[in-house]
This record gives sequence, structure tokens and C-alpha cells, in this order.
Amino acid sequence: MVDTGEKLGVWIDSVIADFVHHSPLNCLRSGEREKAWADPLVGFSRGEDPLYEGFKDHVGSFHWTPVEIFNRTFPEWSVPSNQLAVISWILPQTEATKADQAQETAYPSERWARSRVMGESFNNELRRHVVATLQQGGFPAVAPAISSLWELRQSERFGHASTWSERHAAYASGLGTFGLSDGLITPRGQAMRCGSVVARIQLPPTPLPYEDHHAYCLYFSQGRCGECIFRCPVGAITQAGHDKETCQKYLRQVIAEYVGSHFGFEGYACGLCQSHVPCESKIPL
Ligand code: SF4
Ligand code: SF4
Repeated sequence: MVDTGEKLGVWIDSVIADFVHHSPLNCLRSGEREKAWADPLVGFSRGEDPLYEGFKDHVGSFHWTPVEIFNRTFPEWSVPSNQLAVISWILPQTEATKADQAQETAYPSERWARSRVMGESFNNELRRHVVATLQQGGFPAVAPAISSLWELRQSERFGHASTWSERHAAYASGLGTFGLSDGLITPRGQAMRCGSVVARIQLPPTPLPYEDHHAYCLYFSQGRCGECIFRCPVGAITQAGHDKETCQKYLRQVIAEYVGSHFGFEGYACGLCQSHVPCESKIPL
């Protein structure tokens, strides 16, 4: 019987870890039963955390707070934000995928492309699994990124954006800070994908071991590195940051065709800036 926030946190942690470790869906689907993702990390934040209001200023007013997406999903209740928690997770790339990707200079390795496409499909299954498990336990929940209400939007500051950013939820949940290339640098590095669920549940928030949203990036914290600049084949990363337009154009116009013709499936991925750099697998400080 789980009855305290701490026990609930341990329970949710094990729900996510068990699914990643044991589900046959965590698979690159390359003909061998090779895992898409390694050992996950999990963090929690509170629904009323002011960081979520702050994301409206940073990303755009369209970005949901936890209470907005929860109450839009369950309009029959009008739940206050302090009854909600955000459960966030990091799915790190495997050593085999990172080793392959480190060899590449213009296009993604096949393993990396599979993790982006088949691995993200598993991430969606994980979102559904966490929501279903919570609901069965009596905790109503929604995965914002796969909600029918989720939308792409244009951010004044960042260009392509959406109504829920998994990386921002992970940042608020103590799991990492942003790098020059825009990726989230976590204790498992930047070579990862993340996901989250908003639920009506009391969980102890994960302490944030940082105050600055760029704390873990060597460029911002120590004025050195910048290796992601040189990893990008199209110059989308400069000392001014990440040019999303240039990056997206390369992904959609070049990489999508490459993935189809070389690997035989649809989808696109690049991630060269997340591999073979000091923040690939750890906090580089
Ligand atoms: S490669 Fe260096 S500059 Fe780029 S995000 Fe990582 S730590 Fe920051
Ligand atoms: S993902 Fe975008 S920014 Fe990163 S290396 Fe590829 S094109 Fe450049």
C-alpha cells in the first residue's frame, strides 16, 4: 500500500524503470532485440512551481502550465495547481548508439535514426503506460505531448515551438539545464530524449541543483568548449545559439530523404550536436 509522497515517488520511479528495462517495445527494431534506450532518470516538479508560469514569458504565452493542460483534459474538475505534479523522465541513448553516432559528420547513424523514430514511438508507449498505471492507482493523469489538445506554435524568441516542451518540464523537474545547442544537459548527458506526465498526485519535488538555466554548459558557465558548433554540418549553431530554422530545414529537406533511402524507413533525425561532445553522456563540469 503506497500512502506517502515519498513512497509514491519510489513507486513511479519503478514503474518507469521497469517498463524501460523489461518492455519488448524498448527496441530499435533492427532485426535484433537491441534496446533503444538505456537506464532512465526520473524527476518530479510541483504543479504550482512558478517556473511553469515563467515558461510563458520564455517560450510563449501559448505554453501550458500543468494546471492548464490538466483542467482542459478533465474539465469536470477544477483542480488547483497545488494538487498536481509533473513526472518527467530522461531516456539516455545506449553506448552502441553513441559510439556509432560519434563516427558520423554529416548524417545520423542508423542506430541514432532508429532511436529517434522507433525509440520515440516507445517513448509514446511509456507516456501511455505511465498515464494508465496512474489512472488505475486512482490518480488522473495526462501526457501533454500526446494529448489531442497539443499544438505546434511559433515562438517569437525560438521559432518552432509547441504548447508543451518536454525539455522545459525536465528542467523544472531537476533533470538538467540547457546547452548552447538548445539540448538539455542531464546527468546522463545530452544524448537522450525525454517525456512527461501531469497527474493529480502529491510527489516530493526533485531538488534543482542549479539556479541558472545554462549552468551545466561549459560555454555559458566557463566561457569555453563550443564543440557543438563544429559538430553541426550546416552551421546552425553559433556563439549566438541554435538557429532552429536552419536546423529544421536540414532535417526536413536533406535528412528525411537520407533516412528513407539509406535505412528504409520514414522519419528524420540528426543529433550530431548531441554526440561526440563533452556533454554527450554527462554533466561536463
Ligand atoms: S558541446 Fe560544449 S558548448 Fe555545446 S552544449 Fe555541450 S557543453 Fe555546451
Ligand atoms: S540537430 Fe540541427 S543543430 Fe544539431 S547538428 Fe543537426 S542540424 Fe545542426
